[in-house]
Amino acid sequence: MARSLTILGATGSIGRSTVDVVLAHRDELRVEAVVGGRDAQALANVARKLGARFAALADEKGGATLKEALSGSGIDSGAGPSAVIEAAERDADVVLAAISGTAGLSPTHAALKSGRRIALANKESLVCAGAAFMAETRRLGVEIMPVDSEHNALDQALAAGRNGDVEKAIITATGGPFRTWTRERIEKASPAEASAHPVWSMGSKINIDSATLMNKGLELIEAHHLFGLEPERLDVLVHPEAIIHGLVQWSDGALTAGLALPDMKVPIANALRHRERLAMDLPRLDLAAIGRLSFERADETRFPCLTLARAALQAGGAMPTVLNAANEIAVEAFMAGRIGFYAISEKVEMVCSTFSRRSISAPVTISDALAIDEEARVAARRLMPP
Ligand code: NAD
Ligand code: MG
Repeated sequence: MARSLTILGATGSIGRSTVDVVLAHRDELRVEAVVGGRDAQALANVARKLGARFAALADEKGGATLKEALSGSGIDSGAGPSAVIEAAERDADVVLAAISGTAGLSPTHAALKSGRRIALANKESLVCAGAAFMAETRRLGVEIMPVDSEHNALDQALAAGRNGDVEKAIITATGGPFRTWTRERIEKASPAEASAHPVWSMGSKINIDSATLMNKGLELIEAHHLFGLEPERLDVLVHPEAIIHGLVQWSDGALTAGLALPDMKVPIANALRHRERLAMDLPRLDLAAIGRLSFERADETRFPCLTLARAALQAGGAMPTVLNAANEIAVEAFMAGRIGFYAISEKVEMVCSTFSRRSISAPVTISDALAIDEEARVAARRLMPP
């Protein structure tokens, strides 16, 4: 039976991998809508390739270029925030949410509210407004299927037992490009060095988050919401080969692990079909050829963002929202060469400590979360050099 799919962030790294999965299953997956940020030509190419019915570009100014690039294709198009929401709300069985950053929150929420099943890559949605998102899924009886490789592995491992029997859920981290660097060397790292991820090829924001290990911190918060596990039951393990993505440790001492070659097409295919399997003709994991897997603890003195994220998770309330917003601003400033690598964690910590003194209550709705997000962004921008 054909299943219909909408892809939010179709021109990005996750979007491109999703296109490959869809093209391998043309007879089973039909594309309803595709959404992109600014590149009208790239979006038009994706829409044509997939035979989508509708294409929406976030940047209003690119609307005419998009229309022209789609002329004669029969594909409708729109531009601007309302067109993006329209795409997210259109009738589809699954909406793959892969816009980067907090920009993904409103479109993902619009899809959820329309009762669509969500294949979620955009972790920032859950970090910024996790309680509101999860309340909505319960109210509507909609599923959120994790695309993030660690959470997708955990989701599969958790199916082996009961949630109450979970002692610990562990997500792995490659350690990023600076895993073996000294603090002194990391301190002087350039945006290009921080973007050179040893295993994954990803979008620019998540690349920097992987270098600071904030990505792992955001993933702990994501796991807390997705699986309803308390902060004490969540842990991080550095595993440079990125073969084991998540582990569940059960109350009898047994562990269930999720393994796969590090290719996002694997969790994407899994999330699109979930408990059923979508066959994928990808290289298979050959453990004998790999020979050995290694593990180490995360070094939070060199990677303080992980400590900050854990603290925000533990504090709860508005702190994850504040952390996420401050991090986005600090990462932008780092990428623009305006602040150094360790200034990312310093600025995030400053914003978090200012907000923690105000003990703002947890955002209940998406608009609460977005209001706190905006306030934290303003505070973070004030700390950045011009
Ligand atoms: P990316 O930067 O490569 O792509 C982002 C996509 O979002 C692009 O299509 C871009 O055009 C679109 N976009 C940007 N701003 C937009 C806006 N305001 N409105 C509409 N569309 C907009 O990022 P990515 O690496 O594909 O990551 C996407 C999300 O998936 C992020 O939340 C990231 O944390 C998560 N994720 C990525 C990976 C990975 O391997 N890349 C793994 C796990 C999770
Ligand atoms: Mg991940």
